[in-house]
Amino acid sequence: MQTETVGDGTPDLAVVACLHGDEQCGKSAIGNLMAERPTFDRAVQFVVANEAAVAANVRFVDEDLNRAFPGNPDGDTYESRLAAELLAELRDRRVLDLHSTHSHPVPFALVDGLDETRRNLVRATGLDRVVDIGHIPGGLISHVAGVAVECGYVGTATAERNAERILRNFLGATGALDVPFEESDPEVYRVTGAVTGREYEFVGQNFERVEAGETFARRDGEELHADDPFYPVLMSTEGYDEMVGFSAERLGRLSEVG
Ligand SMILES: [Zn+2]
Repeated sequence: MQTETVGDGTPDLAVVACLHGDEQCGKSAIGNLMAERPTFDRAVQFVVANEAAVAANVRFVDEDLNRAFPGNPDGDTYESRLAAELLAELRDRRVLDLHSTHSHPVPFALVDGLDETRRNLVRATGLDRVVDIGHIPGGLISHVAGVAVECGYVGTATAERNAERILRNFLGATGALDVPFEESDPEVYRVTGAVTGREYEFVGQNFERVEAGETFARRDGEELHADDPFYPVLMSTEGYDEMVGFSAERLGRLSEVG
């Protein structure tokens, strides 16, 4: 991993890019910010996580790093060892974890649970939607107090611009940078299940309700219908090998959700 700490003292904030090596919007955003040599009012650690995967422009080398936490210093895979190393660095930090996606062009946040710390991190992104993904085994934000953000479509200039805007907003809201920021009261979605299966074409829209009986994915003339209404999140044709994505319920605004 590549890491740089700015500001005075021991950081309690960290910004992580490239848990997935082919999602480089966060790395660009950090690079653009640092090029301005801003003055930090509190310490922040910046991390580019999977350098080997970044160099090869692939999601991972041996296994998905964001399914490998807590990892093992003597693990069999590069990502298992890297996950252990990252967690040792990030364990006591509040983390912003920047990603890009195949599922949805408009940025949204992801959390595991909504305690007060995570609520504040979500507000600090300034975004209009947050998905409580619950505990998906091996994810970084299930092992630290963190918020992940999907900044837009993988490999696009729009995702890079979004990542930079979200990064600046987050650092403003957390008091690390003296810049304008907005704290949001996003719509909360909670994952209720996964839709598994290979090579489906997703034909719905993420965050748009699928009604009972409606077709939301198909392959070779076979169609998947909703048994009950749900909201698709992180659903895509290309995103996962073994899965279409997740089904969720919509709970209301963050300020209204207990
Ligand atoms: Zn990712």
